[in-house]
Amino acid sequence: MAVEFELYELLGISASASQEDIKKAYKRKVKEHHPDKNINDPDAHEKFQTMLAAYEILNDPDMREVYDTHGMEGVARGAGPNDVDPAEMFAQFFGGGGGFGFNFGPGRRTKGEDEVIPYEVTLEDLYNGKTVKMNMEKDIICTGCKGCGARGNAKPKKCSTCDGKGWTTINPGIHRVARVQCRDCKGVGERLKEKDRCKKCNGEKVIKETGRQEIHIEKGMTDRQRIVLAGAGDQVPDLPAGDVIFVLKAQKHEFFQRVGSDLLATAKITLTEALLGFSRILITHLDGRGVKVTSPPGKILKPNDAIILRGEGMPVYKRPDEKGDLHVVINIEMPDEQWLKTVDVAALAALLPPKKPEIDPLPEIVDEVPFEESDIGEIQGTFLDQELGAAFDDEDDWEDDDDDDHIHGAPDCQPQ
Ligand SMILES: [Zn+2]
Ligand SMILES: [Zn+2]
Repeated sequence: MAVEFELYELLGISASASQEDIKKAYKRKVKEHHPDKNINDPDAHEKFQTMLAAYEILNDPDMREVYDTHGMEGVARGAGPNDVDPAEMFAQFFGGGGGFGFNFGPGRRTKGEDEVIPYEVTLEDLYNGKTVKMNMEKDIICTGCKGCGARGNAKPKKCSTCDGKGWTTINPGIHRVARVQCRDCKGVGERLKEKDRCKKCNGEKVIKETGRQEIHIEKGMTDRQRIVLAGAGDQVPDLPAGDVIFVLKAQKHEFFQRVGSDLLATAKITLTEALLGFSRILITHLDGRGVKVTSPPGKILKPNDAIILRGEGMPVYKRPDEKGDLHVVINIEMPDEQWLKTVDVAALAALLPPKKPEIDPLPEIVDEVPFEESDIGEIQGTFLDQELGAAFDDEDDWEDDDDDDHIHGAPDCQPQ
């Protein structure tokens, strides 16, 4: 097994790929392998996790260097110059018997592997909280042999492939030696003859069991937050079971942007409202509530003015009665030309403030240039995306650049 290049292969890139290429490849693969899009593939979760782990390692330049020089074993050993414990991370990300067949050497494991499951949540979920019920299939200790794998009193024999060590070494490259789990005894160091194996688990010591599981997405939780179900992972003989860890992946919202505990939204008001004020539901909130706002008398709102609605932001995690603020940027809708045709323009001009006077003194040269409309929207859009991207999206690993995931497409905070 070409262990050393497996991570690059997983992402479908060469070992010389740039960090940018790695990011792109990952985004591509996330879409391709997302379990929600591969519901008929029983291995989808595992593939997805494995890919996630590959990305976590290759996206970190320090970790990538360790991986490039020392291979997966280096990463597992924690040869990294940074403070993260890569072995721990690796174990978590490769939980559930991920694709590599590594272990971390004899005596390293003190409990079963953790299973990390990405879980997509909407901003509504994070605002309101949510309980998710699911069926989860996991390994449990075989009830037939109580986890010994043997039939009756049969005793296993030392594995000849690995001489009882449970691992073998491979040389995937010059100066590189990697330790891989023994294929024949799966790291145990012992093997049972076919006829001596427990009939129920076929000597595997564990059997599959499907059970109901529940997770609670609490108000105010954040993107990437982990919900740990301690000991809910696969059972393994002689070790406490690992954990099942759900990692929240917050979807982008169509109208609200989250900045810590605060929310940011845009509301449209009419020109009349900008000049004469308003008192109406400005926003439909994430819990379906209408948020009514009355502008103070005599206040004129200008384009891009912002207002702050205190206590209408996100709930604070573990203190859900406390909430951040909601910042609303005001967009002013100009009346259309159809409207202009219906009014007395002279009377309107008399009511509105005067037009700008000509420059005085006039410049020596004045050129008359034809009026032509420009479709500048796209250029501005790109610019705005970059600005907002920089301000609110510093971690774009989770970013999904297509919008077809927005199943909650109902306009949430459009003007009423
Ligand atoms: Zn059994
Ligand atoms: Zn063996």
